[in-house]
Amino acid sequence: MKLVVLGAGYVGLVSGTGLAELGHDVRVVDIDPERVKRLSDGVLPFYEPGLGDLIRRNERSGRLTFASEIGEEFSEADVYFVCVGTPAAENGDADISAVLAAADKIARIARKPALVAIKSTVPVGTCDAVEKRLAAAHVALEVVSNPEFLKEGDAVADFFKPERIVLGAESDQARALLRQLYAPLQLSGERLVVTDRRSSELIKYASNAMLAMRVSFMNELSRLCDATGADVHSVRLGVGADKRIGRRFLYAGPGYGGSCFPKDVQALMHLGKKHDVPMRLAEATHRANQEQIEFVCKLVERALGEPAGKVVALWGLAFKPETDDVRDAPSLAVARYLLERGARVVGHDPEASQTFARALPGVVIAAREYEAVSGADALVLMTEWRSYRAPNFAEIKKRMRGAVVVDARNVWRPAEVQRAGLRYQGVG
Ligand code: NAD
Repeated sequence: MKLVVLGAGYVGLVSGTGLAELGHDVRVVDIDPERVKRLSDGVLPFYEPGLGDLIRRNERSGRLTFASEIGEEFSEADVYFVCVGTPAAENGDADISAVLAAADKIARIARKPALVAIKSTVPVGTCDAVEKRLAAAHVALEVVSNPEFLKEGDAVADFFKPERIVLGAESDQARALLRQLYAPLQLSGERLVVTDRRSSELIKYASNAMLAMRVSFMNELSRLCDATGADVHSVRLGVGADKRIGRRFLYAGPGYGGSCFPKDVQALMHLGKKHDVPMRLAEATHRANQEQIEFVCKLVERALGEPAGKVVALWGLAFKPETDDVRDAPSLAVARYLLERGARVVGHDPEASQTFARALPGVVIAAREYEAVSGADALVLMTEWRSYRAPNFAEIKKRMRGAVVVDARNVWRPAEVQRAGLRYQGVG
């Protein structure tokens, strides 16, 4: 099939490249000419394991091309995938202006009946709004909802082995075409959830809010553990042993971040308000997350003492391992808190140093993790990259000026840290 993907971000690049790998002709279009130029020169706009090789292979084969315009030959596409950003607006609602702009573009250029698949995360009713914009087209264009569930850091594997593919379509014809498109990803069994467009749009928000809720619940428990002397690690094991609950996604930490959970939880709250159905759990999830970030800032301060004049090393700046994405990363909040109180903050991350330095220039970036701790009064582990899992604590102690270690991800063994003469502080 001939496919056009609008938006060369995490979702657009991964889906476009994955679809090219399955044998389709894919044109990935982005309004950012600099991004397109770099992609055409083989430079990835972000770090995502395995994606670079896949892009190069499919570009060489001629199936994958990048452009800032859709182009004549692709005005006869079978499917247009809309993968543009939907950031939070001032009031917490999702800003769908880029989705509507992409729809207007498709309406102008399409010369053959086609599907317009909305992969961006959008509030219920957006497909209907897009449908209205597409009425201006010269040909019949049908809108379908096809939300994306990839996890940054594992996005390529998620594309080829998805846990589910959600399709919201109103016609049998659209459903049949999408089934055909996704058939190669279903050889080991049915993964499609086929439904109407509105349910499909809501599935995406409900999934992210449910995951965020688990995290926030464990984070609240970690604060209760801190106050009562219980151990959140044991609580997790005990609670997660119940099969109905399960062990995954039950880790306490510095609060969730990234480009999806914070904005999607707020967008769900906003959607509820708009329809007069308060989303109480989403509201509490959001609030608990903000409180957790504050709690971790205070935890560092409690262990460190007055921050002014102190040096704090942050290991891990990305919002989670295996990505260089720092959007809404808890590390930003902790660094800001310390900088505002007069501390010097030195950060290290295997991949996210540059994106972090652009987001918060006041932090000194160290090229190596052990350089970051030299002369530090405290070391704070913010992101549990594999390379931080088993550090040499004796070396850390030797290099540090102080002895405070705050493990905001609860991945180190307190006894091992203490054996090196350091003071351990975990979350709960
Ligand atoms: P992103 O910010 O990384 O990329 C969006 C890209 O779209 C940018 O490069 C931008 O220049 C481009 N763009 C904007 N308007 C355009 C237009 N009219 N035509 C062509 N290109 C345009 O975004 P992302 O992280 O890939 O997310 C995209 C959507 O998918 C969002 O709605 C997001 O919530 C959702 N989503 C993201 C993830 C994730 O892990 N990042 C996972 C699932 C769903």
